[in-house]
Amino acid sequence: MALHVKNIKGMPDLLPSQTALWQYVESQLQQLLNSYGYREIRMPVVEYTELFKRSIGEVTDIVEKEMYTFPDRHGDLLTLRPEGTAGCVRAAQQNALLDNAAQQRLWYAGPMFRYENPQKGRQRQFTQFGVETFGIASADIDAELIVLAWRLWQRLGLTNSVTLELNSIGSLSAREAYKTALVAHLSNVKDQLDSDSQRRLETSPLRILDAKSPQTQALLVDAPVLSDYLDDDAKEHFSQLCATLDRHGISYVVNPKLVRGLDYYNKTVFEWVTDKLGAQGTICAGGRYDGLVEQLGGKSVPAVGFAMGLERLTLLVEACGVIPEHLNDQDVYFVIAGDESVQTEAAFIAETLREALPTLRMTMHCGGGSIKSQMKKADKSGAQFALIVGSNEIDQQQVTLKPLRSCINSNNETIEQQSLGVDALVAVLQRYLLNE
Ligand code: ATP
Ligand code: MG
Repeated sequence: MALHVKNIKGMPDLLPSQTALWQYVESQLQQLLNSYGYREIRMPVVEYTELFKRSIGEVTDIVEKEMYTFPDRHGDLLTLRPEGTAGCVRAAQQNALLDNAAQQRLWYAGPMFRYENPQKGRQRQFTQFGVETFGIASADIDAELIVLAWRLWQRLGLTNSVTLELNSIGSLSAREAYKTALVAHLSNVKDQLDSDSQRRLETSPLRILDAKSPQTQALLVDAPVLSDYLDDDAKEHFSQLCATLDRHGISYVVNPKLVRGLDYYNKTVFEWVTDKLGAQGTICAGGRYDGLVEQLGGKSVPAVGFAMGLERLTLLVEACGVIPEHLNDQDVYFVIAGDESVQTEAAFIAETLREALPTLRMTMHCGGGSIKSQMKKADKSGAQFALIVGSNEIDQQQVTLKPLRSCINSNNETIEQQSLGVDALVAVLQRYLLNE
């Protein structure tokens, strides 16, 4: 019996019908980051487990129950990266990118791994696009990151589908003071908290703020609020950030309960959320993490960044119906009406077209078959035109251009079926491509 080995649960394939959308989103992101002066960094997918424990924090969901950790053949404990910030900080510091108070604006993209319950927009292997900046303590860079994300929503046509939630969680010492007050308040009602929150009261009390249980939320109503514990520096930083966002007309909701799941944040935290993807509503999340570089053995380097999930982002582009037209289509399908010598000539003409029109998407028919079956393939490819070459065309050094759908050029004229020399054909296709 044949053994059908399948993929691992939560680690799906991305098929050719989906990759055009991914490439479109990725290229928009790359262009955008280039335009802001960010440079790409590529880190390994596997790191020593210690790196994630020390940065993300021992009592976070990720480290407690989501990491893929295994000993290698030498016995070293390794982990498939669950996120990119830790590896990016490690790489930047190890390779002297942060020396001499250097400023860095970096981005990366790639697979991340978390052992979660797979559902729509939540996978065990998923793809993050991350942006990290180092060496800038002021709120202008926090604002730049948020504006940059906003510009991406604009490019993709998602501005009306996402909202920005913002908070300041202050300095480490402010959070410690707040934690003490919160724990004191909640300890009185400990046995009424949900079981997760009871456990967190000892390990990570701030996480109780985003508990799902309505009963726990009710007990939080008259709890102390974090904003009352912020020092002047954090308050000033936050108001500068808000002022810049106001100037850009970017609206936001200050959510005092937004604390983020990771230990390393301070001051600014933010999330871009949507109501169009059900429970997996957070598209992009980030914040400031001024203490992390030092925590990982470097000098004290201020830092701020965000990561977005590309599965959720592409799902959102689909859900909002803003996929550009013809993303999966060819422009031209080359049909052969003759024997091998016609095929050879046609292939030669195709290369001339490719040289003249590098962005033309053209499939050359290979493998023979009737004209009827080739025309069917041409239609299925989504092509706007069939190019047909037979022995007549070869004799007259022409190609027949047959529109497969109603098609207009950049002068708003309908393109009719016609036989043309190669130079004239290049000119017609060029005008069509300009119009696209
Ligand atoms: P969530 O609350 O949805 O679990 P998170 O706070 O764990 O998200 P981060 O660690 O901040 O997520 O990761 C940043 C972004 O990466 C998320 O906003 C989301 O878009 C994406 N992401 C995180 N985990 C997954 C996953 N398992 N599958 C797909 N995308 C994910
Ligand atoms: Mg999570």
